[in-house]
Amino acid sequence: MNLDPRMGRLILELRQGGVTDARVLGVIEKLPRSIFLAGPFKDRWDENLALPIGYHQTVSQPLIVGLMTQALEVSDRHKVLEIGTGSGYQAAVLAPLCRRLYTIERHPALLREAEERLRELKLTNITAVCGDGAAGWPEQAPFERILVAAAAPDVPPVLFEQLAIGGIMIVPIGLDENDQRLTKVVRTEDGAETEDLGPTRFVPFVDGVVAG
Ligand code: SAH
Repeated sequence: MNLDPRMGRLILELRQGGVTDARVLGVIEKLPRSIFLAGPFKDRWDENLALPIGYHQTVSQPLIVGLMTQALEVSDRHKVLEIGTGSGYQAAVLAPLCRRLYTIERHPALLREAEERLRELKLTNITAVCGDGAAGWPEQAPFERILVAAAAPDVPPVLFEQLAIGGIMIVPIGLDENDQRLTKVVRTEDGAETEDLGPTRFVPFVDGVVAG
């Protein structure tokens, strides 16, 4: 199958930005990003930008989705937790690469829309719930991988507790929108190793669930 030239350009941008994992690029290449976007933004799917999805939230920039997914080193043996389902785009990139994905969103309306899209895409290994991601998902812990899609002031302690030993968490850290660092946290036998993956920009991690 020939690659759509717009998708080809986007994939090239991701490669130039440091996404080299063929499995990650393969999933992104096949995923129609337009279905995650609303109305006037639908045709801007190939822009390597975060775009609005309503409720003052955004679907992440494809490059960031690629870099985060790659840094997560996910495999089909892994149970993965995502905080901040948003549009469901990052979930749709993760699901084909892992055994099972659990994803939490605090906005019920966003979650409903995301679930609809994920069903349409026939991604059946995703369990989504409306809730406060700060509490994680204790019933399903430990997770081999955790991806936090909203900026936290520090490594969220409850989520770290739910990370398996040897597990990896990717989390944007920093409250100042202009000074956030994408951070990789590896849980070791007796603590954590962290690695700075560079600057990033995410909406803040907010406590509590939105009514509705
Ligand atoms: N992964 C998404 C983008 C996430 S934007 C995508 O691919 O489209 C960040 C999301 O995190 C928003 O939808 C926001 O509502 C959600 N969020 C912020 N704080 C949260 C919390 N404490 N618990 C659950 N979701 C949260």
